[in-house]
Amino acid sequence: MNIGFIGLGNMGGPMALNLLKAGHTLEVFDLVPASVQRLTDAGAHALASPADLARSQVELIITMLPAARHVKAVYMGEDGLLAHVAPGVRLIDSSTIDPMTARDVAAAAARQGNPMLDAPVSGGTGGAAAGTLTFMVGGSAADFEQAQPVLAAMGKNIVHCGGAGNGQVAKVANNMLLGISMIGVAEAMNLGVALGMDAKVLAGVINTSSGRCWSSDTYNPFPGVLDNAPAARGYSGGFGTDLMLKDLGLATEAAKQARQPVLLGALAQQLYQSFSAQGHGELDFSAIIQLYTGTSQ
Ligand code: NAD
Repeated sequence: MNIGFIGLGNMGGPMALNLLKAGHTLEVFDLVPASVQRLTDAGAHALASPADLARSQVELIITMLPAARHVKAVYMGEDGLLAHVAPGVRLIDSSTIDPMTARDVAAAAARQGNPMLDAPVSGGTGGAAAGTLTFMVGGSAADFEQAQPVLAAMGKNIVHCGGAGNGQVAKVANNMLLGISMIGVAEAMNLGVALGMDAKVLAGVINTSSGRCWSSDTYNPFPGVLDNAPAARGYSGGFGTDLMLKDLGLATEAAKQARQPVLLGALAQQLYQSFSAQGHGELDFSAIIQLYTGTSQ
């Protein structure tokens, strides 16, 4: 299939490479020439703007952009995709944005005959490179079926979450829970160790008891508990505190619009925000344990 891909950054770059590996041909665009070069070196064809890409012979366009304002500009800007794309061309936005914007863009696309899916991912840059991402997909069942073979070239778990915007709903709900659970594990681990327990023994008890969760058994924030978690390498790599902060912002904003309480989500947002303001925004989000232990741990 001839596919257009816009947004070739940390996630989009390796995702696009996997589409090439799967035998698709690619028309690509990004604002950063070096990111485009990586793809053209691998066989993709570069275009000068979203408008040019929309006018090329693509059957499907995928976008992987930083935030909602970039998605709005690329799709709905004066020289954006929707102003130039032929009816029938399919659209997939994999950026993590708020569900309301996702629904607005999908409705605008539908009005001119372009089926659109929101398909945010989890799995990070490692999953993007390995082609093992989880896709949370919002849109019609028929469009989901149609998109599955292409998404399968970039991901392992591909879940239909319901109508337009519901992929983003799943993503913000999951990441809000992750942000909260990491703080809970950090608090419990710090308390247990301060009261005299060995961190590994405590983690072992938690991980075979009712406190067990992904933040405790796969990504434990306490240094020395897991050899392969960011805590074992000074909290480098992994999922940055500022990315977690962005997702918690999406969750609290969506909650405000839906008039739903997110008491712990809002508190978690404040804690990551103050950690980021201390200059730790680049560290993996599990470094939030340093709010309890101090940076010496
Ligand atoms: P990134 O900043 O590395 O890449 C974004 C790319 O979009 C950049 O190359 C940038 O030049 C390009 N871009 C921005 N505006 C553009 C425009 N108007 N036209 C064309 N290109 C434009 O970001 P990323 O880490 O690849 O993340 C992309 C999305 O995936 C974000 O929404 C992020 O929240 C989400 N996400 C990231 C991770 C992760 O671990 N990095 C994990 C899951 C989801």
